Amino acid sequence: MAKRPTTENHCSFCGRPESQTRLMFTGVNAFICDACAEQASRLVHEHLHTGTSSRHTSSYPQGAIPQPQQIKDYLDQYVIGQDDAKRVLAVAVYNHYKRLRYCADHTDTDDVEIEKSNIIIVGETGTGKTLLARTIARMLDVPFCIADATTLTEAGYVGDDVENVLVRLLQAADYDVAAAERGIVFIDEIDKIARKGDNPSITRDVSGEGVQQALLKLLEGAVVNVPPNGGRKHPEQQMIQVNTRNILFIAGGAFDGIDRTIATRLKSNVIGYNGTRTREQLDRDNMLRYILPMDLKHFGLIPELVGRFPRLTYLNPLDHDALRRILSQPKNALTKQYQALFKMDGVDLTYDNAALDTIVDTAVAYKLGARGLRSIMENVMTDLMFDLPNLSKGSKVRITKKIVLDKINKTNINPSLK
Ligand code: ADP
Repeated sequence: MAKRPTTENHCSFCGRPESQTRLMFTGVNAFICDACAEQASRLVHEHLHTGTSSRHTSSYPQGAIPQPQQIKDYLDQYVIGQDDAKRVLAVAVYNHYKRLRYCADHTDTDDVEIEKSNIIIVGETGTGKTLLARTIARMLDVPFCIADATTLTEAGYVGDDVENVLVRLLQAADYDVAAAERGIVFIDEIDKIARKGDNPSITRDVSGEGVQQALLKLLEGAVVNVPPNGGRKHPEQQMIQVNTRNILFIAGGAFDGIDRTIATRLKSNVIGYNGTRTREQLDRDNMLRYILPMDLKHFGLIPELVGRFPRLTYLNPLDHDALRRILSQPKNALTKQYQALFKMDGVDLTYDNAALDTIVDTAVAYKLGARGLRSIMENVMTDLMFDLPNLSKGSKVRITKKIVLDKINKTNINPSLK
């Protein structure tokens, strides 16, 4: 078997190793991969024939900037409720586009500088944080990636360096650095890097405060050395330099227990003279709507990190009504997905309202949230799908409350779903 070369040639432009390219051209002291050569050729063409400068590459969002209402309308097709968060996200994305355009048009240092507005979304698990991020990504023409904060550790410890967040973005941009530099990064589970108490730690906190400190640099805008293939940086590895100044960061987290912090804060406000809300006016089932940056600090995010997310928004818990809508309303609702599967076998699938209500009741009773809806549906539908190929084309299947109850009782939903 041929031995892999120990030192590989890397593209001098994007840093990709030869093994990950289709073709590598060798020059005097430099290499260029097929992707970069193609891009360079395109730019030359654009420049010579249309007079556009390299600033307006394919990476620059072209065409009309999506308006906040358009973005929200798009989100509404896939995500139920969560109007406040949708509005915040829509404005953030709209401003992100405008800012990119502004930066491209105003290169003078005397011009007003529009600062970016990173966002934190706080919401119980399974209420749609990732779904919102993914849905936004689908409609945008800037690179987008989701990074998991739990995998990050402070440099020098086992785990990923924070720079790895940008590796994903580079991959999403097909290693077009200029495009990645205008992208959007969703950092999931940001609450998991909170330090363990409100007080600065005396001992080192490898997975918490150290990571937060490391993230600061990325968030505020800096030129960061990124290992092209992720993992640890090592001396002989060629780095890709990415400027994070124009990258929009959206962070999400459940912040378990933060509702108690909020409640305590509100309680003292209410009791204290000058309280603006009376206790009766508070929405006790949804404390997150009163969240303030100080609550995040109390939870264990360092003030500098909180300060770099000027926008804070929240997701509502999903009640019976929301779950019921999630089951059947969105464009790719679960009920519609099964109908599509049945249709492929020429079978018409319908559901009784009472059947869907029972599915939602079960999800609520076992506190399974939106994620549980899928498991319950699978339990209900599996036997039917097993027999599906035996049904004649044009036949009809109707899911009744009795079918749902039979399947749920039969499958002993407790252990299988929890
Ligand atoms: P998290 O808040 O933990 O990131 P997700 O966005 O991953 O939660 O949601 C889990 C699943 O639940 C999604 O794939 C989606 O099917 C469903 N879901 C959650 N919230 C909503 C919502 N508001 N609208 C529609 N579906 C939702």
